[in-house]
Amino acid sequence: MNIQRTLSIIKPDAIKKSVSGNIINMFESNGFKIVAMKKIHLSKLQAQEFYKEHSARPFYGDLCDFMCSGPVVVQVLEKDNAIKANRDLMGATNPSESDEGTIRKMYGDSIDNNAVHGSDSEDSAKREISFFFSELEIC
Ligand code: ADP
Ligand code: MG
Repeated sequence: MNIQRTLSIIKPDAIKKSVSGNIINMFESNGFKIVAMKKIHLSKLQAQEFYKEHSARPFYGDLCDFMCSGPVVVQVLEKDNAIKANRDLMGATNPSESDEGTIRKMYGDSIDNNAVHGSDSEDSAKREISFFFSELEIC
């Protein structure tokens, strides 16, 4: 067993569509334990800091505007090999390329309105979890 934690964000498009409950249900029915969760509205500065690895990419400005366009639900998910398991459940970045049954296929509309974020490595999971949560908030 390789129990890991990963950071998940249900993005503003999914919250606006009122499908956050469906997505949470998908995490739980796929064996993830939700060990922390809160709903927040990011500031522009927070979105820029969170996505700073993409700061040189042409979509960075639109991505940060989108991520602070409404509330998000951030979660820490725990499972055996959680980082890859969540990426598999999320599906490809572009929903039109996502496999059937994945979150982005079911609830994403486009590459920039793609319903969820998930950490992509152990280092990013560590950084992203501590960006949103203190150890006291994880149980
Ligand atoms: P992922 O969210 O699958 O890890 P990335 O880390 O590469 O994808 O990109 C972060 C987010 O930036 C994506 O979820 C998507 O919303 C947006 N994005 C990525 N590539 C593009 C693109 N070519 N055009 C517009 N938005 C993009
Ligand atoms: Mg990414």
